[in-house]
Amino acid sequence: MSKQRAKWVVGNWKMHGRLADNAALLQAVVQGAGAFGEAVRVGVCVPAPYLAQVQTLLAGTSLVWGVQDLSAYTHGAYTGEVAGEMAVEFGATLAIVGHSERRAYHAESDERVAAKTVRALEAGLTPIVCIGETLEQREGGATEAVVGAQLDAVLAVLSVEQAARIVVAYEPVWAIGTGKSATAEQAQEVHAFLRARLAAKDASLAAVPLLYGGSVKADNAETLFRQADIDGGLIGGAALKSQDFLAICAAA
Ligand code: PGA
Repeated sequence: MSKQRAKWVVGNWKMHGRLADNAALLQAVVQGAGAFGEAVRVGVCVPAPYLAQVQTLLAGTSLVWGVQDLSAYTHGAYTGEVAGEMAVEFGATLAIVGHSERRAYHAESDERVAAKTVRALEAGLTPIVCIGETLEQREGGATEAVVGAQLDAVLAVLSVEQAARIVVAYEPVWAIGTGKSATAEQAQEVHAFLRARLAAKDASLAAVPLLYGGSVKADNAETLFRQADIDGGLIGGAALKSQDFLAICAAA
């Protein structure tokens, strides 16, 4: 089946990086990324303090960049928060929303994730909405119920026109940072379920890009990305090494 949808590979640096390391990594990625041209949208989501550096190093390249979270508010007395508009001032076009680490360590509910998705869109950012089940939920046969509810909470607050502008990342919690990726079949099964769920809201939403995340590496990316409903990846650990990240981009 040929895929007409946009292909994405986005690095999620998490809380990693220092100025010198970022510069070396980005220079190598920029050099290598020329080879992909328009075929793959390559991005990096960095810690907010590095947005200025990333803007300087990536301006005029084919790469895009963004943040790993954003506030549910535009401004105000929210100590420590970063508004989407602030990231946009540094050229950001992406915002990861609802990563499982935010859901787990910062008690982000489905409703909060939905509110942040709306905020990202209003600020002019493309939200990469993360959803995924825990190992316990998978073993209990609840995967579709969990990811379906997580997706529904977001779709409930978006118009069809807004929903058409999101990217969804399926990231099984048990596969993140564990070295234990979902198999291509496991990932494809959930992606097909999510695509049908999107299409049920409106047929046009079948075109929403669905990324897989969770221990994507240079050696498993191609098999994952070959699946009918997998449109690329959200990459954690392997995004910190230029060779690995570029190999994953090449597989998309
Ligand atoms: P990982 O992280 O590739 O290191 O498993 C993915 C993510 O958390 O987005």
